[in-house]
Amino acid sequence: MNTQKGSINVTSENIFPVIKKFLYSDHEIFLRELVSNAVDATQKLKTLSSVGEYKGALDDLKVEIKIDKEAGTLSVIDHGIGMTADEIEKYINQIAFSGAEEFLEKYKNDANAIIGHFGLGFYSSFMVSSKVIIKTKSYKEDSVAVEWECDGSPEYSMKNIDKKERGTEIVLFIDEENKEFLEKERISTLLKKYCRYLPVPVVFGKEEEWKDGKMVETDKDNVINKTEPEWTKAPSELTDQDYINFYHELYPMAGDPLFWIHLNVDYPFHLTGILYFPKLNNNDFNRNKISLYCNQVYVTDSVEGVVPEFMMLLQGVIDSPDIPLNVSRSYLQSDTNVKKISGYITRKVADRLQQIFNDNRKDFEAKWDDIKVFIEYGMLSDDKFYEKAKDFVLLKNTDGNFFTLEEYKNLIKDNQTDKEGTLIYLYANDKDAQYSYIENATYKGYDVLLLDGQLDNHFLSMLEQKLEKSRFVRVDSDIVPNLIKKDDIKSATLNDDEIRMYAHLFKSQIPAIEKTEFIVVFESLGEMGQPVMVTQNEFMRRMKEMQAMQPGMSFYGELPDSYNLIVNTDNNIVKRILESANQSFGEQVAPINHDMKEKNEETQKIHEENKSKKDDEVSADDKLRLTSLENEVKELRTKEEGIITDFGNKDATLRQIIDLALLSNNMLKGESLNSFIKRSTSILK
Ligand code: ADP
Repeated sequence: MNTQKGSINVTSENIFPVIKKFLYSDHEIFLRELVSNAVDATQKLKTLSSVGEYKGALDDLKVEIKIDKEAGTLSVIDHGIGMTADEIEKYINQIAFSGAEEFLEKYKNDANAIIGHFGLGFYSSFMVSSKVIIKTKSYKEDSVAVEWECDGSPEYSMKNIDKKERGTEIVLFIDEENKEFLEKERISTLLKKYCRYLPVPVVFGKEEEWKDGKMVETDKDNVINKTEPEWTKAPSELTDQDYINFYHELYPMAGDPLFWIHLNVDYPFHLTGILYFPKLNNNDFNRNKISLYCNQVYVTDSVEGVVPEFMMLLQGVIDSPDIPLNVSRSYLQSDTNVKKISGYITRKVADRLQQIFNDNRKDFEAKWDDIKVFIEYGMLSDDKFYEKAKDFVLLKNTDGNFFTLEEYKNLIKDNQTDKEGTLIYLYANDKDAQYSYIENATYKGYDVLLLDGQLDNHFLSMLEQKLEKSRFVRVDSDIVPNLIKKDDIKSATLNDDEIRMYAHLFKSQIPAIEKTEFIVVFESLGEMGQPVMVTQNEFMRRMKEMQAMQPGMSFYGELPDSYNLIVNTDNNIVKRILESANQSFGEQVAPINHDMKEKNEETQKIHEENKSKKDDEVSADDKLRLTSLENEVKELRTKEEGIITDFGNKDATLRQIIDLALLSNNMLKGESLNSFIKRSTSILK
């Protein structure tokens, strides 16, 4: 053949400016494309040989990458099937190109999509080259070697050459802007990234060794890849140590994995891989740890859409020729194959966890704290996973014992069902801070769960919806008899005046805490009960916690924290304080109370008389009288409160029992803590 000239057949637009301009960000993938073409050609030859269509010797089937800095070239050389002139015409010159402009406009920032759509793997070499030469000789008998050359315009030239070896050599003349691809280091890194697990040996230079104080090249090929990575093998061929070693190969900085799952499916799609459960550090919600491969060619670390969201916490490798790799993300997510894959992985992971749970529950429990966040995340975000995981998800109680949901229900159902038939799951989320509440509840014979994980708040809300007639109540949200309401508890026997006065008495001695409010409540909790306790309403607390996690919605967040200060009127110390209060200011406040009562009654009476009247029909006299009564009552109350506060200020025991309650909730800080310590010391004297 004399040198033949022609135009690359692009029907609607010249492909080269597109390649140069739009694909800028992903320049480096040209290497992946060329090396995987070379590997494909090699694999094809092996296949042809195995079916007897190719009868020659296979020899050394390596793929070689060479850089020649002086000539400014990078070459990819294979010994695969090669191409005849006709095949070059067909596969390289004719670029199927329909609806190009529209497509390019849509995907101009997504090189993968463009390359995939047009089958332009080879042409990606023009992203970095001013000229590309293909020298190739087909495996077919008597075939003539051909050289094809193109400088990035739609014109190419093609001629016969004398090439002895079967296979293809692609020579890129790297252009000015892309000189980095002539650097050994850069190419090494890229090969490591994209070609590390290709199925054919990929050679880049020679191995080096340390000799006479410097690194020197040996004559041994430097093979950069592992042609049979673990995921391509049968699980029966691999030991636990093999899996662990492979994990460290992938993540040299990580500790040992907790579990792994070897994926292997042929139908309805092909997929292999190994997924690892890493030991998560707290808050280590690092995604993009699973690498996606296509026939052992690395594609990406962003596996959104392929793997369910919660599995993004896993690590490892997925390899599937059936995932449409060279398309955009949005397309990927709507692809039915991909959806099936994602469902399959979910099922496999759940099955494997169930298996570990069944086979070695002790081990499962030992690793629970590490895998819990993953399982809870899965159950929260994926109903199918919930359905499977509900049989092996564990609840841990404050004694460190583990239960399945079913086991736990059986454990507590007799003792922790309230009078409405609701099963009450008591929990703590801070074993130390809530120590005394846990103790009180366990003393009463209740079991308390420890739900101190990052997702536990959401998790328990979900369980409340999923489990029948069940509620989660934090141990410090109320006094023990109220946590699980059984029969109506005996309430304290104080009259309204007493409640008002004593409430003020206690309130006057609570140290001021920023953004915190207390409501004083009297309960009879038995002689043995603590004198004073602090509880926080479950609903309010959860609302605040939820909203703290979603900035912007701060209605509950702005409200002060509201606590109940529970005073146990059965407790002897409390009894003593109330008695001495009564003795001290009883006589002083009695006339005030009397006055207040009269004024309140009068107010009541005026309201009664005017009940049927509209606001503007009420006489001016009455209005005046009401206002003055209101002020008088206010004055009386202030006076009364003054007397009570004076008494309170002198009663160190009162202050002491309040401080103790605050202290056991970790709420006593700064100056208040200091004066508590001083007061305690002086009591000891
Ligand atoms: P794709 O690989 O997606 O088909 P390419 O543009 O990379 O698209 O390659 C087009 C075709 O050119 C390939 O399908 C193959 O037939 C042929 N080809 C490319 N590189 C080689 C090679 N190194 N050896 C033999 N044939 C090749």
